[in-house]
Amino acid sequence: MSPKVFAGFDLGGTNLKYGLVAESGEVLEKSSAPTPKTFSGVLDVIASVWNELRRRTKNRPAAAGFGFPGIYSRVDRRILQSPNCPSLDNVDLEAALERLLNVPFRVDNDANMAAYGEWRCGAGRGVSSMVHLTIGTGIGSGIILDGSLWRGRCGFAGELGHITVNPEGDRCACGNQGCLETEAAAPKIVRNYKDLSKTKRAVTAEDVFEKAARGEVAAIKAFGIAGTYLGIALGIVINMLNPEKIVLGGGVMTTGDFLLPPAVEEAARRSYRASFACCSIEKALLGNDAGLIGAALRAGAKE
Ligand SMILES: [Zn+2]
Repeated sequence: MSPKVFAGFDLGGTNLKYGLVAESGEVLEKSSAPTPKTFSGVLDVIASVWNELRRRTKNRPAAAGFGFPGIYSRVDRRILQSPNCPSLDNVDLEAALERLLNVPFRVDNDANMAAYGEWRCGAGRGVSSMVHLTIGTGIGSGIILDGSLWRGRCGFAGELGHITVNPEGDRCACGNQGCLETEAAAPKIVRNYKDLSKTKRAVTAEDVFEKAARGEVAAIKAFGIAGTYLGIALGIVINMLNPEKIVLGGGVMTTGDFLLPPAVEEAARRSYRASFACCSIEKALLGNDAGLIGAALRAGAKE
């Protein structure tokens, strides 16, 4: 019998990433398509990708996993709200997928799928407890406890991007103020830089990174301030869960070492020394593939 393969789908605001993944976590093939604006468009692209994946391999995928952005309710089996893909809000997603696919499938929040991927075959491989954060335009996260993904009563667990790290901080789209996401993700690093350098010009997060790499003090500080708030969140996580590992991924983490050192320093200052000492804080390994690998492997998992 040939080894099983699983299909993984990772939907974002701009792209649907998809691929075929072996049980070992090896990506056998992958590609992407633009994210359609409407729900029927999303279903159409999933249908055509699904047919394409099945055509392209002799070894038919045994299951399919989907990571969708937004608040996925495991009770209602639908996405209650998706700020990046509003066409998914409250639609009967799972019934539609069931009509489309002829294999078992699993749906979850994209950040949970990415955490699962890094845990199964990335930086978290082999540990029994791990917290994963994806730091980009926003901050997503997932929690592995005692060898399984912790989803909470309704499936909303692991929203570390929306814990308060600065009571006086910026307004967040979630309604709160000073969330980790508003204080430490890419847009805030850009705002920090603009405030510190007093520039009126348009600046991207990549620009700020390049300036930091060239030694510009305002750019290094812009990362440092965000890193400190990230460290406050990591300190909370360490004291609350005593995890074996914290894994940090996402676009901002690929921009050199300006965010991680201040974050680790602050986490050490704000957590129990013993708990900090037995937690390792590392960069993620799977890059942009974490979501689709996690979705595929979760679809194939028994639990
Ligand atoms: Zn928030």
